[in-house]
Amino acid sequence: MNVQGGTAENAVRNYRLFIDGDHAASESGRVIERHNPATGALVATWPAGTAKDAERAIAAARAAFADRRWCGLSVAERSAVLFAVADRIRDNAAELARIESLESGKTLAQATDEVLWAADIWRYAAGQARAQHGDSHGNLGDGKLALVLREPAGVVGMITPWNFPLVILSQKLPFALAAGCSVVIKPSELTSGTTLIVASYLSDAGLPAGVFNVVTGYGKDVGAVLSAHPAVDVITFTGSTATGQAIIAAAAPTMKKTVLELGGKSPNIVFADADIDAAVDAAIKGVVLNQGAECCAGSRVLVQYSILEDFKARLLEKVRRVTVGDPLSPDSTIGAIVNETQFEKIKAYIAKGRAQNTLLCGGEPVAGLPGYFLQPTIFCDVRPGDAIATDEIFGPVMALIGFDTPEEAAIIANDTAYGLASGIWTSSVDNAIWMARAIRAGIVWVNTYLDLPTEVPIGGIKQSGYGRENGRFAIEEFQVLKTVVIQD
Ligand code: NAD
Repeated sequence: MNVQGGTAENAVRNYRLFIDGDHAASESGRVIERHNPATGALVATWPAGTAKDAERAIAAARAAFADRRWCGLSVAERSAVLFAVADRIRDNAAELARIESLESGKTLAQATDEVLWAADIWRYAAGQARAQHGDSHGNLGDGKLALVLREPAGVVGMITPWNFPLVILSQKLPFALAAGCSVVIKPSELTSGTTLIVASYLSDAGLPAGVFNVVTGYGKDVGAVLSAHPAVDVITFTGSTATGQAIIAAAAPTMKKTVLELGGKSPNIVFADADIDAAVDAAIKGVVLNQGAECCAGSRVLVQYSILEDFKARLLEKVRRVTVGDPLSPDSTIGAIVNETQFEKIKAYIAKGRAQNTLLCGGEPVAGLPGYFLQPTIFCDVRPGDAIATDEIFGPVMALIGFDTPEEAAIIANDTAYGLASGIWTSSVDNAIWMARAIRAGIVWVNTYLDLPTEVPIGGIKQSGYGRENGRFAIEEFQVLKTVVIQD
C-alpha cells in the first residue's frame, strides 16, 4: 500500500493485492476507486482483481496447504501468530477504525468498538487453536481402537460484505487459520482496506507465504471463481441471500462445503409487562446501528396493543435524540449510507411504506449534508406482508406492528423467509421461555438486543443461511473428521 497526497489523515491509500506473500498489482492493471459516502472524497483505491488473479491466489493457497507449511506447525506456533495479530489490531485501533469509517460511512465511535471486538475475536480464536481435539475409542473389541482426528478442511475461499468489514473477516479468518487451513479472501469491493492491512499484520507475525491471500475486486470476477474452483474446499460467505443462492449453485458441481451468513428481517417483540424505556432504546438501536445496515437489525418491532400508543410516544421522544451527521464527529449516532445504490434502494422502500403504511417520523434525506444521509424512519400501522415488513431494507427504517397474544406474536415473528435474530421484551420468565422456544431464529435475545459476546455462536436458519461463526463451534466449519481404526 502507498499513501498519496495530503496529510496522513486525508491521504488517498493505494492498496495492492496480496498473493503468495507479496503485495502485487492485478494483471488487469485496473483499480477500483473508493469515495467516502459522507463527503464524496476519494479515500482509497484497490485493484480490480480478475479470474487470473484469483486463480494465482488459489494456486498459492493450494501449494501452501500441500506442503504443510502452516498446518504442519504445532498448534502453539499457530496460536502465537494469531495472538500477535490480535495485538496489532488492538494497537492500531484508531487507524483501522478511521479507515473503516471513511470507506463505509459508519461512525468513528462505532468503528472503534468494532475494531476492538475484532481484536477480541482473534484472541479467542488464538486460544482455541490450542484447544482443538478430536475423539478416541479405546476398545472396539478384538483389539481394535479408533482415533477421530480433526484435520484442516484445506483451502478456504472467503467472501465478505461491506457492512462490518473487519468484524466479519475476524469471524472467519482466525478460526480457519487456527484449524490449519489456507485462505483466499475477496473482501467487498466497497471496503477492502482493513483486510489488506491484516494481510500485512499476518505476514509480519510470521505467517508463511501463500497461506493467506487477498484478491480485491467484484463478485462476478473474483467471487464467482472462488465459488466454482475445484481447488477450493470450503466457501464461507457473508452477504445477501440472493448472492448466497448463486454461491451454492456455483459450488455444487465441485461438492464444496458452503457456510452462509445471509440476510434477516428480525422481529423485536415488546410485551406490556416489559421495561418499556429499555425496549424503546433497544428498538431504536436495533434499526439505527450502522445506519440500519446490520444483518440482525430489529427492523420489525412487534408491540402488544395495550401499550402501543405509549410505546409510540416514547419512541418519538427518544428518536429525536438520534443525531445523523459527520461520521467522524463524536456527536453522530448515524453516519452515511454506504453508496448511492443503497441510498436509492432505502428511499424506494420508504416510498412503498408511505403508500402502504403511516409514517410516524423521518422518511427524508438529511438536508444540508453533502453525502448519503437519511433520517431514522418509523412506520406504524404495518401489517405482516407489507413490503417494509417483508424485505430486508438494510437502512434505518422500522416497521411497527401490533399484536394481542404471545401466540399471535410468534406467528407474526415467524412469518418471514428469514431466521437470523429476534428479541423478546418481557418481565415474565415463563413468557420469555415460551417465546424463545416458539421463535424460529438462530439468535433469541431476551431483554437485550444486538448483544453478541465473542464466546457464543451466531448464524441463521431458513433463508438466513447455515453454519456458525464465533464461539467454540466456529472452528468446526474449517475442519474435517478423519477416522483411524487401528488393529493391534
Ligand atoms: P452482497 O451479497 O451484495 O455482497 C457480498 C459479497 O459477495 C461481496 O464481496 C460481493 O462482491 C460478493 N459477490 C457478489 N456477487 C457474487 C457472486 N455472484 N459470486 C460470489 N461473490 C459475489 O451483500 P452486501 O450488500 O455486501 O452485504 C449486505 C448483505 O449481507 C445483507 O443481506 C446482510 O444481511 C448480509 N449480512 C449478513 C450477516 C450475517 O452474519 N448473517 C452479516 C452481515 C451482513
